[in-house]
Amino acid sequence: MRIRTKLILWYSGLLAIIIVMFGIIVYGFMDRTLVDAVDSTLDETATQVIRNSRVQRFGEFGGPIETMIRLPRLDIFRASDVGVQVWGVNQDTPRLLDISANLGDWHQPLDAAALGIDQPRFSNIKINGREMRVLTRPLTAQGDLYANVQVVALLDTVNEAREKLLLVMASSAFVGVLGSIILGMWLSRKALHPIERITEAASKIAQADDLSTRLEWNGPMDELGRLTKVFNGMMGRLQDLFSVQQRFVADVSHELRTPLTAIRGNLDLIKRYGVDDESLEAIESEAERMSRMVNDLLLLARADYGGLTLELEPVDLDTIVIETHQQAKVLAKDRGILISIEHFEPARIVGHVDRMKQLLLNLVGNAIKFTPDGGRISLSLRQSNGKAVLQVKDTGIGISPEDAKHIFDRFYQADKSRFRMGDSSGLGLAIAKWIVEAHHGTISVESEVGKGSTFTVEIPVLDDNHHADDDDQPVSRLRHRLMPER
Ligand code: ADP
Repeated sequence: MRIRTKLILWYSGLLAIIIVMFGIIVYGFMDRTLVDAVDSTLDETATQVIRNSRVQRFGEFGGPIETMIRLPRLDIFRASDVGVQVWGVNQDTPRLLDISANLGDWHQPLDAAALGIDQPRFSNIKINGREMRVLTRPLTAQGDLYANVQVVALLDTVNEAREKLLLVMASSAFVGVLGSIILGMWLSRKALHPIERITEAASKIAQADDLSTRLEWNGPMDELGRLTKVFNGMMGRLQDLFSVQQRFVADVSHELRTPLTAIRGNLDLIKRYGVDDESLEAIESEAERMSRMVNDLLLLARADYGGLTLELEPVDLDTIVIETHQQAKVLAKDRGILISIEHFEPARIVGHVDRMKQLLLNLVGNAIKFTPDGGRISLSLRQSNGKAVLQVKDTGIGISPEDAKHIFDRFYQADKSRFRMGDSSGLGLAIAKWIVEAHHGTISVESEVGKGSTFTVEIPVLDDNHHADDDDQPVSRLRHRLMPER
């Protein structure tokens, strides 16, 4: 069943139930009120008749007691349209003692079953097909029942009012439910129309295989406005991911072609002239480069698709800086490059030790790669505004402002003909950026061509008070040991 039909059925069904329940309550209440009004008229009339009646008993010296009932003129006390009969019930058979003129020659008891009772009783009777309400009340003297007063009123007015009320209620319920169905159909069509448009547009996108299509929405930012926005956002993300994937595949094949060509060239040489150490070394280093690149790519791909989560824990950046400094000195040996720690202030962050080491090593590795022999590289770690600030400064070839915009992109390498040492893939800074962002930090570069570059990483610190007195000892010892040296 369509949502629209369901909505209308629910809506109209509920309305119908409410109307019927409301109708039953109103009808019952009105009916009671109308009958009560008739009953109170009957009761008043009967009271008047009884109040103005007298029962007299007389008899002499043990003789039988005679009873006389004096009745008022019934037509004086009765309310209009109320008929009165008085029945004597102190003998075996009831006798009609008096009857109001408006009852004509109706000399039968109005409610024969009620004659003889000593408690008031209301009953409904039908005479000549007309419904009437009868009240029978006892007429007593000194505790003995002598007569019953029966007053009667037509229920025509009440029945007419009931019928009219029923008619009005039934017709308004019918109109109400019909109206609610029509209104429901109109409203649901209006409310669901945008959803149909979204469905149509989505199916067009699927058919045309065109991820650049977006849904148009000119209405307010209600549920549907938000749905359209989310849908468009999702399409944008899909398009991004798709183009990233395409670019990635293109870049990967391009980047893998170079080492493969080198390997094939060297293999050709070996085939032609026999095995020589130089070719073997070249093949080995290209194979290593390829395997590094594939590892880097795997890391980035897993990061992209959310398959890589870092287990973060408190990490002392100062230890990492010291370790990287040691490693950098090994890497740059024979290059005559001065590697120093310029500024050293302990800082603890929430992070991943291995990834932080990888980040710093990427930056320092680049600095070594792009700094000519005899240059200077300095590391520094400081705290500022609740952030740990890591800097890697070099006096290398520098980066042009145009290149600086792209160096964090995957596979981007500034002018390949420029000075370069070691192997490169253009993935190092993309990985560095991902690591920094996974630590809720930022990375930036300042550089001047020919003078050098400074890479700055900022990551929120865990605890400013870290390294309290007892911790201070080993750090200051390390600091002494690691002061700048050539
Ligand atoms: P690569 O493997 O080429 O080093 P990266 O992503 O690490 O890849 O760096 C991208 C590019 O940024 C490098 O090719 C280089 O042109 C430039 N670059 C990075 N670090 C430096 C630096 N310290 N000095 C000069 N250029 C740099």
